[in-house]
Amino acid sequence: MSAIEVIEPATERVMAEVPRAGAEEVDAAVARAKAAFPAWRAVAPADRARLLRDLADAIVARLEELATLEARNAGKPIGDARGEIGMVVETFRFYAGAPERLLWQTIPVAGGVDMTFREPLGVVGLIVPWNFPLTIASWKVAPALAAGNCVVLKPAELTPLTALELEKIALEAGLPEGVLNVVAGPGSVCGQRLVEHPDVAKIAFTGSTEVGRGIAAGAAQTIKRVTLELGGKSANVVFADADLEAAAAAAPMAVFGNAGQDCCARSRILVERSAMDGFLAALQPAVEGIAVGDPLEDATQMGPLISAGQRDAVAFYVPDDAPVAIRGSAPDGPGYWFPPTVLAPVSNDDRAAAEEIFGPVACVIPFDSEEDAVRLANETIYGLSGSIWTGDGARALRVARAIDTGVISINSNTSVRVSTPFGGFKQSGVGRELGPDALEHYTDVKNVYYATEGS
Ligand code: NAP
Ligand code: MG
Repeated sequence: MSAIEVIEPATERVMAEVPRAGAEEVDAAVARAKAAFPAWRAVAPADRARLLRDLADAIVARLEELATLEARNAGKPIGDARGEIGMVVETFRFYAGAPERLLWQTIPVAGGVDMTFREPLGVVGLIVPWNFPLTIASWKVAPALAAGNCVVLKPAELTPLTALELEKIALEAGLPEGVLNVVAGPGSVCGQRLVEHPDVAKIAFTGSTEVGRGIAAGAAQTIKRVTLELGGKSANVVFADADLEAAAAAAPMAVFGNAGQDCCARSRILVERSAMDGFLAALQPAVEGIAVGDPLEDATQMGPLISAGQRDAVAFYVPDDAPVAIRGSAPDGPGYWFPPTVLAPVSNDDRAAAEEIFGPVACVIPFDSEEDAVRLANETIYGLSGSIWTGDGARALRVARAIDTGVISINSNTSVRVSTPFGGFKQSGVGRELGPDALEHYTDVKNVYYATEGS
């Protein structure tokens, strides 16, 4: 097996080497998971719940170590990384409640008793990206295990370290051998093998829309269940009647959080034309004040991009003649830095406004009416997230209902909560993660009829 050299994006130095898995390792992991499944699905619900709680506790015990690993490997601020690992813990705790509650229905019928069950699928393949490595993994691993499945998890090659730790921690916490398996290797090899593998019942994928399209097509060959969490180009709609100070204070981190490498990034800031000057004036100090630098410094708000390739891809959208209205800071020297950048005014069909940049670039787009705002917000192939800023409650709800998106917040830039469903409309994905909804995607429905009056 060759080695993956894991790079620290703030220093461009190799921070670890791990064996690179290939198709053989995937096959071996699937075989382990398949062998572990009959015993795992038979674990008593209360015991499965306890194992998930023990796993959460074991993560708490190593939270600082995992957060530091994630901060260094993904280049994210340590404060953010602590929050993300905290969410991993909450996700395992939330789904630990499921095994003893995952009831379904009893439907009254003639001649007997009818029962409907939610059964685990078997071996599930989980493919995750590099932007929130362990957090997104936990959104899949926790409901998958709670529902009684065995897991093969494939982290992104750029960020395999916390997933590999999770595999060890799970064993130490008492999870049976073979229930949670991690294969770190390239998507085109390991990911693809999972998608093709006849013993894998489902693929849960988070990543780009382009790769997701290929996964949906590949999974069709074996009629695998598929859930997809894909790209986004979400709108942050600011009406003139909003608290403009609050909207302008929140807008930067709604795009520049995680250096813009966030599928929920509100990278299209739609501003009512009459409020444009005031909004931009308030936005400028907020963007210029973002602390960009060493991920391990507590005060840091934005780190580097994940790789040189990602930085080049972002830079492509900011050519020399781009309408740069505000530019924040970025350190010199090693590291894949790119300053927080606001383009204004931009038209919704400009390339920078139409395509997911996945970096710290925001487009400010003027609009003239509520109808115009909704039209612009919806003129995209994506539909993942978004925000609405207004002082008019009725308008807020009208617009929230009219925007084609899976998640939207009013006078807030939050997108995810462990207990509520998260996922995309349109080409942002299929299915939902988090909340009770995720469990449906890790189970199949079985109906059992027991004749009580003859047959
Ligand atoms: P990506 O290139 O699509 O990769 C995602 C994962 O898929 C990685 O583990 C990758 O492996 C693997 N992969 C690549 N090619 C594959 C193939 N042919 N078959 C099976 N698996 C394959 O995405 P990314 O560049 O890591 O992440 C950025 C994208 O993810 C953005 O578009 C973003 O919007 C999206 N995203 C969406 C959400 C959401 O919840 N909706 C959350 C986060 C990110 P390797 O990288 O190891 O090759
Ligand atoms: Mg990629």
